[in-house]
Amino acid sequence: MDRLTAQQRHANMAAIRSKDTKPEMIVRRGLWKRGFRYRLNHKRLPGCPDLVLRKYRTCIFVNGCFWHGHLVNMQVLENSCCCKIPKTNRDFWVAKIRRNKERDREEQRALASMGWHCITVWECELKPTKREETLDSIAFTLNHIWLQDHGAKAISYPKLDEEDLQMPIAAENQTL
Ligand SMILES: [Zn+2]
Repeated sequence: MDRLTAQQRHANMAAIRSKDTKPEMIVRRGLWKRGFRYRLNHKRLPGCPDLVLRKYRTCIFVNGCFWHGHLVNMQVLENSCCCKIPKTNRDFWVAKIRRNKERDREEQRALASMGWHCITVWECELKPTKREETLDSIAFTLNHIWLQDHGAKAISYPKLDEEDLQMPIAAENQTL
């Protein structure tokens, strides 16, 4: 039995939508399951990224295809396969989507200048048939980023300092 009034239900739904929207939860659960740990909605970073993985210096944004105009060309702003701009009040929606796309770009540029990597995951990439493949590819990208940032350092040999150079040659070499 449903005991909530329509108004309460509306408030609940709005709260759920703004905090744990479904696509974001799919990404969170999928990455957690794959062993990644993250912080949520980092307020001090530009764009308040949905997930922040400090170890990988990476921010992940989970974007709705409509609001962020997925595959919509910024010049012409025509419909794309997964973002249908309403015909009614078209100018209003076009302006809104354009603003969102511009903001996304600015935020990612700001993050990049602070040394952060950004990954954008689109709602349409999280459809049941594509979901696991998308999550695997995010995991792959994160590992690749980590290797790029740390790999070279990890395999480089320590530099010899003055003292090392003055050390006598090891005994086994002298017997040769
Ligand atoms: Zn899409």
